[in-house]
Amino acid sequence: MPGTSIHELAMAEIERLSRRGFQQLSLPEPLESGFEQSTFVQRAARLWVEGLIAIGFFNIYIIADYFIRGGVSWFPLQLRLCIVTPIALLINVSMRWSPNKLYRETSIALASCLIGVTHLYLESNTNATSSAYAQVGLIVTVIFANVVMRLQFTYAFSTSAFLLASDLVFIHQDHFLNASEKLLGITLAVCAILMTVVANYSVGREERLGYLMRLRSEIQTQELSFLNVELQKISYIDNLTGLANRHSYELQFAKFWREAVDAGTCLSAIVIDIDHFKITNDTRGHLYGDRVLVRVASLLLQSLRCKDDFAARFGGEEFVVLLPGATQEGATIVAERIRKLVEVAGSPALPEPGSHPRLSTVSCGVASCWPSDSNCQDDLLDSADKALYQAKAAGRNRVCCGGLTTTVRKRLSAERRVLRGLPKGDSGSWATVD
Ligand code: GH3
Ligand code: MG
Ligand code: MG
Repeated sequence: MPGTSIHELAMAEIERLSRRGFQQLSLPEPLESGFEQSTFVQRAARLWVEGLIAIGFFNIYIIADYFIRGGVSWFPLQLRLCIVTPIALLINVSMRWSPNKLYRETSIALASCLIGVTHLYLESNTNATSSAYAQVGLIVTVIFANVVMRLQFTYAFSTSAFLLASDLVFIHQDHFLNASEKLLGITLAVCAILMTVVANYSVGREERLGYLMRLRSEIQTQELSFLNVELQKISYIDNLTGLANRHSYELQFAKFWREAVDAGTCLSAIVIDIDHFKITNDTRGHLYGDRVLVRVASLLLQSLRCKDDFAARFGGEEFVVLLPGATQEGATIVAERIRKLVEVAGSPALPEPGSHPRLSTVSCGVASCWPSDSNCQDDLLDSADKALYQAKAAGRNRVCCGGLTTTVRKRLSAERRVLRGLPKGDSGSWATVD
């Protein structure tokens, strides 16, 4: 099924194998290889142990032989111990190296046939007890191959068919059983073969279904963790600009603040606002406005030189930069760099030939402080915000610095909220707050 994902294929196979009636057990590639891959080591290890048990059972019949034949009979003893047992042991030992499926199933099927036919050959046509006993031995062999060793279905079916055919041949030539005893023997063998083949099929189906279910849940877990990563990205990153978003900024600010309190270092913030962005939107359209936002975000990142410096989109056309360890002088240099870069490169080209974009500029408010337990994060941002409004009031496209007042945090926050609602240009009162 080219182009079908493993997940869909697994779901389709679960659905198919769960249907009533006989369903072909082998799975389409690559599921069949995956099934084999996930089970072969365990299966070979199990066959090794069960093979030893089977060989042990086969040789226990030596004792039964002794009583049935009324003494030691050398030919059966030699055939069991010197020919069949070494061959079976050799096959069994090879299971230690986890062989491939074809070798593993074929060799176990052949070993089962060899043991079954040897048993029939030795026990049939010797005396009446022995001939009846040959039927029991055949049934035990079939049960062992189909149910205990759980040969894969096609191999189990072929082995059973071969052993049944052999049984028919031996029973036909037997002189010690009468017709009704032969019929009873054949009936028992056919019943045992049918039941064990059905059991073998059911176990094979359950094993494959189990593998497919595990695979499905693994794929679902992978998909979920992928979605989780994507969700995390979405919740921390601004969709349009690719910069950290407001939520991410708040977490980062709290972290920088704690680190600065612990280390006793300075922390600076720059609040950046695109000038007259509404006019840009109104004259060039919102899509062009978006391109300006993306361009300014990228220039912001280019302006940062220290690996810990952090830039985020604060909202709308406002950005914020946090500079851990930077003093007000250092932060002002960074803000000036941002302002100049935007002035030079902040206006994306227009598609229409000959048309010139509106020059995009930014105003920046800078503030710094030495965080401690007695001052507050909001004060730093309030101060930078006030400086930004001073820059706007002073004509835009400029950088202004604000001091940090720690004792009037509540008043600043309240005023900041009020002043945000004031019309543009009416920001003279800011200067008096600092
Ligand atoms: P000022 O120089 O005083 O900052 O003036 P301004 O026009 O930049 O400020 P104002 O607050 O009046 O307008 C901000 C504009 O930013 C209005 C809003 O439509 C626009 N804006 C906010 N978010 C987006 C956005 O994601 N994409 C676009 N294209 N525009 C946005
Ligand atoms: Mg604004
Ligand atoms: Mg603006």
